[in-house]
Amino acid sequence: MDIGGTKTEAIALDELGRVEATVTRPTVSGAEGVLSTAEAAVAELAERTGRTGFASIGVGLPGQIDRRSGEVRNAYNMGIDSLAIGPELGRRTGIPVSIDNDVTAAAIGAAHLMELGGTVAYLNLGTGVASGIIVDGAPLRGKLGMAGEIGHLPIGRLGRPCPCGQTGCLETEASGSALKAYWPAGGEHPGRTLLTAAASGDRDARRCFELLVQGAASAIRLLGLSLDPDSLVIGGGLRLLGAPLRDGIRDELARWEAESPFLAALELSRRFQLLPEGSPAAAVGAALAAG
Ligand SMILES: [Zn+2]
Repeated sequence: MDIGGTKTEAIALDELGRVEATVTRPTVSGAEGVLSTAEAAVAELAERTGRTGFASIGVGLPGQIDRRSGEVRNAYNMGIDSLAIGPELGRRTGIPVSIDNDVTAAAIGAAHLMELGGTVAYLNLGTGVASGIIVDGAPLRGKLGMAGEIGHLPIGRLGRPCPCGQTGCLETEASGSALKAYWPAGGEHPGRTLLTAAASGDRDARRCFELLVQGAASAIRLLGLSLDPDSLVIGGGLRLLGAPLRDGIRDELARWEAESPFLAALELSRRFQLLPEGSPAAAVGAALAAG
């Protein structure tokens, strides 16, 4: 299950890791809302598959994840300060529950769905920016579950303030929240109208798109240089910008490669790919991580 601020996607995986059924529901905000959304999704999956139960439930969530206690903290976009969702959902469904960071889960799911082995770096371009990392087949979570939080590297050039307390975080220039803050004309879902507005001469929209492309290219370079992964995948809501986003990132990386034989040797402009549209990567990854 992938529980996000607006929607919850749940899938049933069979014994061979194939998606058997998919359920999508709007996420009800707050601790009780999130729990009842998750519980209803499990019931609907059971109905769809005709199964009386499941071996395990894996949940991917944004926020700070304590895998041991099954607790999520600071998931502000779904109105949660702290919730022991693992034990609580387990009690309600009678099925063991494990939880994971949603971007780490998406990396695991992308590797499975795209049949990528070895080391995989997954860049999530959504409301926030973060990466999920798999090293030689094993997810890297870190001591505090913070591994891959590259959205808060202050490598931006504009010095914009970030809610995390630093200035110039990558996330303040290249993310859905940056689009919302610096291109208010885009409304609630700026990603959907950004390209049309940029093409019709909206200067702010074009600037926001340029910053997004440059920030994403920087993130790919960062992941490439720190991990030299077998595969680099871009997912998240903004990947729906599609070919213009992919081409923009590729061209930016190619420009840097033209100036640096060192960087050119990594061939990053040819190595990254977009997660295919409609891939339930985070839900699949959470289920796989639950075993
Ligand atoms: Zn930050």
